Amino acid sequence: MAKHCPICNRSSSEIEFYGEFCKHCAQERLAEKLPKEILIEKCSRCGRIKAGGRYVKETGMAINTIMRSKIPKYGTKFIEMKGDSAVVDVIDNETGTSVDKSIKLDYRGKICEACYRKAGMYYEAVMQLRGDAGKVERMISKVNKYFERHQEFVTKIEQIDNGYDMYLSSKKLVTAFLSLMNIKATVSYTLHGLRKGKKIYRNTYSIRL
Ligand SMILES: [Zn+2]
Ligand SMILES: [Zn+2]
Repeated sequence: MAKHCPICNRSSSEIEFYGEFCKHCAQERLAEKLPKEILIEKCSRCGRIKAGGRYVKETGMAINTIMRSKIPKYGTKFIEMKGDSAVVDVIDNETGTSVDKSIKLDYRGKICEACYRKAGMYYEAVMQLRGDAGKVERMISKVNKYFERHQEFVTKIEQIDNGYDMYLSSKKLVTAFLSLMNIKATVSYTLHGLRKGKKIYRNTYSIRL
């Protein structure tokens, strides 16, 4: 006896079925469960990306490793890059449904451990971001992109109880960023050392979002 798809009422005599749904609806249902974008940590110094807990060259295999960890329920196979999205073949082994899904890669500029060491954990400024969690996240992303664009780097990001501390390679760039974004910060200065007889300060910018 022919089955009928509970969503579109197509019959199994006219279209292939995966489980109780027709192929078309099964694929749509699977695609809806998948993330539209995934976050990728990319070293702004060497360009490597973090996959499987370490920084590696950005290859299809590396992207596949990230997909596997972000979409653990299904099988994934990287097909190709299209602009800033990765096309991935996703397979639900339970029903046999497979669908090609385009997933946007949201790059976050970081500094990998190797480059971090190379840079000697260098930082000139600390941005203390506090307040609304969503706003803080978006601000981190903006700072990351801004620093990346200006060939500077985020030395590290520390999560603390009520927000994040961003360690940044350039005071000058923090000042430029804050004035661009029209953000008021409370600035404090810590004496860090002497360079050629001049006092060197690290600046801390407290920002409430
Ligand atoms: Zn259907
Ligand atoms: Zn690196």
